[in-house]
Amino acid sequence: MSAGGCNGCEAELNAVGNVNFDLGRYGIEFVASPRHADGLVLSGPITHNMAEPLQLCFDAQPRPRFVLALGACAISGGLFAQAPQVERLFLEHNVPVSYVPVCPPHPLTLVVGLMDVLGIGVEPRT
Ligand code: SF4
Repeated sequence: MSAGGCNGCEAELNAVGNVNFDLGRYGIEFVASPRHADGLVLSGPITHNMAEPLQLCFDAQPRPRFVLALGACAISGGLFAQAPQVERLFLEHNVPVSYVPVCPPHPLTLVVGLMDVLGIGVEPRT
């Protein structure tokens, strides 16, 4: 769910599916409907306009589910933390949130973060 960010995090998120990072090899894919999702990746500081759609998206997900905050904006509000247009109550009222830091996170950081949340180990290459 893109909730008011600059699109930088989303660009890196798109990159995890390309041939360099190939997130699908770990059995992880992004789906169009929250009803088919096990988790929610959140980017952006959460603007007023996106607060309700974000909650609706989260509520539509089957349990168990998780939230992964991607990037500085999702984690803390980032550059927009003090903006009056930001509304971050979602993060206070829902499941524990895992974090993938930096602005924007490198695709590999996101891959590792997702695998960590899901408890998937990585075998070292030989
Ligand atoms: S963390 Fe950085 S790249 Fe991501 S939405 Fe915020 S400003 Fe953009």
